[in-house]
Amino acid sequence: MKFRALHLAPIGLVASALALALVANGQEPSAKPRKVTKTDAEWRKQLTPNQYAVTRQAATEPAFSGKLLKEHRKGVFECICCGTALFSSKAKFESGTGWRSFFAPYAEANIETDTDYKLGYARTEVRCSTCGAHLGHVFDDGPPPTGLRFCMNSAALKFAQDTPATKAAAKDKAEKKSEPPKASAAKEAPADAPK
Ligand SMILES: [Zn+2]
Repeated sequence: MKFRALHLAPIGLVASALALALVANGQEPSAKPRKVTKTDAEWRKQLTPNQYAVTRQAATEPAFSGKLLKEHRKGVFECICCGTALFSSKAKFESGTGWRSFFAPYAEANIETDTDYKLGYARTEVRCSTCGAHLGHVFDDGPPPTGLRFCMNSAALKFAQDTPATKAAAKDKAEKKSEPPKASAAKEAPADAPK
């Protein structure tokens, strides 16, 4: 028995080392580095108290209170904190819930999700992947083609109406995205499209 145990020990060590390596490489959401990081004081200075409560403290604005509920122009709904494009007006629908609703994000990479138990049951929280701003929640009772309902707080979003310049910038961005990572890293795109 002793002989066998001795032989098993190195295997156990290898397994532990492997497990540690896996943990180290794991994508732990809360430890994810952000492209935009600011101190609490900086966010408070930049945002209104309502915007701060929603985006940085995960508050939910009252139903039918959101200023973007009546926004019906064509354009992009951006993160109020960092300006990342989050939802297109093309994916907007009238859910009747009292919150601005979308059936898809502008780009999968621009948002991230996490499970939230704030109300005592599991809901899927949606955040801006660039700055970590809380945006709202996503539910699986949305319309086709995705069947998803992104239930968003207006306070977390700002609307940028489509203009020829923003359309060209979006097209340019989409083309850059399809390039291999090395090529796009070589020539950095400007952070902000002309307004
Ligand atoms: Zn953001």
